Amino acid sequence: MSDIKVKDKDFEILFSKEKIDERIAQLAIQISKDYKGKDPLFVVVLNGAFIFAADLIKQINIPCEIAFIRLSSYHSMKSTGKVTQIFSIQEKLSGRDVIIIEDIIDTGNTMHEVQLEMVEQKPASINVCTFLVKPKSMEREITSKYIGFEIPSQFVVGYGLDYEGYGRNSEALYILKEGNN
Ligand code: 5GP
Ligand code: MG
Repeated sequence: MSDIKVKDKDFEILFSKEKIDERIAQLAIQISKDYKGKDPLFVVVLNGAFIFAADLIKQINIPCEIAFIRLSSYHSMKSTGKVTQIFSIQEKLSGRDVIIIEDIIDTGNTMHEVQLEMVEQKPASINVCTFLVKPKSMEREITSKYIGFEIPSQFVVGYGLDYEGYGRNSEALYILKEGNN
């Protein structure tokens, strides 16, 4: 349980399922409180955020809607800085209180692009809820109102996050072992 191999790489455990569950419960309570009476629209960034979003949204106890966008900027283990939007949002954002749900903010380029595009539709508000942030990698100033965990700038997998398509199905979060890149 403490180490896993995904394709050719070795990873060690960073956060257990229990630790993740505990943090998500806290985030859900906070969001439900902050958005009481507001009818928020969650916009889930696929693919990586799918497990985080599912676990979080199940615990949101106020009326809300859920939409999905799919993007990618990562190539294998390095951010390319170029964001490709694979499918765009159909729901109207204008006047809505939007909460973007992301798996991880690394350079911040992806979240920057997403927000730029959303602002054009004039939502009432936009906040970011991200499972993970790598503060030392940030190239853009992104303010995330809701953050699961801050982590070092190493590559992580599990809990929805992949390495070359694999490893998303692990219920814990794993970090690349030293001397492995
Ligand atoms: P950014 O544009 O902030 O550099 O990168 C954001 C995206 O890159 C994330 O949404 C995620 O899909 C991917 N990413 C960044 N760091 C990692 C990581 O450590 N592991 C995995 N699996 N994906 C990452
Ligand atoms: Mg992502």
